[in-house]
Amino acid sequence: MLAFNQKEAKVRCECGEEITAPTQDFELETECYEHGSEGMGVDTVYTFSYEFTCPKCGRDITITVSADEYPEGVCNYSDPSISEGAEFIGEAPSVAVDHTPPEDER
Ligand SMILES: [Zn+2]
Repeated sequence: MLAFNQKEAKVRCECGEEITAPTQDFELETECYEHGSEGMGVDTVYTFSYEFTCPKCGRDITITVSADEYPEGVCNYSDPSISEGAEFIGEAPSVAVDHTPPEDER
């Protein structure tokens, strides 16, 4: 399982508005590919995406982070992108293998 390294992603719209996107609100889609029948394991492609509308100018902005886990427990790559007209402020969101045990919040 992959998880974000950041709690939030900060982006700037071309109108100058700065928006904070909580990474926990990103939608996750996964696709699994079996590597043959020889027990080569499963290749999992992750696509995290977050769509929102700039509150100032109404532009639709989409953040997408593509990542690949293969073999299980190894993150091959993490590729953040953002739609035209907006840019990441500072560090772009990235994902990595989540080694932290599930936390009991209360
Ligand atoms: Zn804007």
